[in-house]
Amino acid sequence: MSKEEKTKIRARLAPSPTGFLHIGTARTGLFNYLFAKKNKGEFILRIEDTDEERSEERYEKDIIDGLKWLGIEWDEGPGTGGQFAPYRQSERKDSYRKYLQKLLDEKLAYYCFCTEEELEAKKQDQMSRGEAPKYNGKCAGLSASEVERKMAEGEKAVIRFKPPSRIVSFKDLIRGEVEFDSSLFGDFVIAKDLDNPLYNFAVIIDDYEMEISHVIRGEDHISNTPKQILIQEALGLPQLQYAHLPLILGPDKSKLSKRHGAVSLTEYKKEGYLPEAMVNFMAFMGWNPDTEKEIFSLKELVKAFSIEKVQKGGAVFNIQRLDYLNGFYIRQKTLDELAELCLPHLVGAGLISKDEVDMEKIKEIISLYQERLKKLSELPELADFFFKEKIEYDKELLKWKDMSLSEIESSLDISEKILSDIKEGDFNKDNLEKVLMEKAGEMGDRGKLLWPLRAAMTGKRASAGPFEVAAVLGKEKALQRIKEAKNKL
Ligand code: GLU
Repeated sequence: MSKEEKTKIRARLAPSPTGFLHIGTARTGLFNYLFAKKNKGEFILRIEDTDEERSEERYEKDIIDGLKWLGIEWDEGPGTGGQFAPYRQSERKDSYRKYLQKLLDEKLAYYCFCTEEELEAKKQDQMSRGEAPKYNGKCAGLSASEVERKMAEGEKAVIRFKPPSRIVSFKDLIRGEVEFDSSLFGDFVIAKDLDNPLYNFAVIIDDYEMEISHVIRGEDHISNTPKQILIQEALGLPQLQYAHLPLILGPDKSKLSKRHGAVSLTEYKKEGYLPEAMVNFMAFMGWNPDTEKEIFSLKELVKAFSIEKVQKGGAVFNIQRLDYLNGFYIRQKTLDELAELCLPHLVGAGLISKDEVDMEKIKEIISLYQERLKKLSELPELADFFFKEKIEYDKELLKWKDMSLSEIESSLDISEKILSDIKEGDFNKDNLEKVLMEKAGEMGDRGKLLWPLRAAMTGKRASAGPFEVAAVLGKEKALQRIKEAKNKL
């Protein structure tokens, strides 16, 4: 092997398709991607579906779609293929069987026939004596013929690994030296049987066979690492480099969970967060470039990223920051782009039908909101009155300060007259502003003219200004809304 080959960086994301792509998994994927690309290495996606009962195709699809949406592309993995295919654990059982058999043959692992009840009773007993529960090694001494007999009699067995008792240490790229005492583990289960390995075992075989150099994953896996190292050693496989990313915390500093809000990436996508904002946001959950700069494209992140700058302490999920970044990226879009992005939200809210889309109209409307939108899903709520035939509101809304009903009525009469007098072709924001402002000025308090008019057209307490709204609604609809308001009074 040449020196270059030996130092090739290969990082991986190894999600289990037992749920929708979690924001924490997406961040782990991003950090692996950034690390690999920064170091001119490769990023591999491997689907860890050893838990057949909980793994589902729809989850795998969600994970794959989510990563693609973020722009995190893998060099090898499902769909892409690669020199170490297949990249789905359920398709790699031959490898696992071979290594499991090796451990069994060398007596480094053994079949255990203890029943759930037995194990539970033992555990309770240990705990009642104040001991940390661990397997007592009862089946470790079974002879080959005893194992054979039990198997022949159909007794259920699992495969346990017998770790040596010692201090296992490894250098974590983020946390530095980490130590665990393996005598606390007991002989742990590594497979249900030869065809069904568990995570701690399968991960070792795959990382080895796929020539992974760096394992970058969530801190919740840190206690698995010594177990994995001991299996590696038992099989004579080289140790990898490890980096455990800080947990993502909710605002109350406890581990981020559904209780804090959405945790699956799809939900953020549905709410109208842009992939650029998500990437930028996730990168800062546990890392920062040590500069003031806070807007980073994926490409810029690759350039700026370094694993040494990843923090040890938990990274707080700050939704205000995500909103801020998303607003920024929304403002960067052209109106055409933004209209395309908003379309599904307007259709989804039932404001327009997919088959009759007036893109020009939509762009006009969006242009009124681009500056203030934080997420695309806010648009239907803000701008529904443009699309609806009739709007609902309480007549109280038409009232500016302490105006009486008759004052409101005459204010609406004035607006109606002004709007009717503007020719269709001149019915634009500038003209509307000019004539309405002139009149409003004469009335002393401008709100007396502008508030009832705007409220009548929008049915809302807050919206874009009356001139813009009237211009986009068009003369006919604006006048219609004034009439309807007067009817309410
Ligand atoms: N399948 C594991 C998970 O989804 C992967 C952990 C690892 O990266 O080793 O948590």
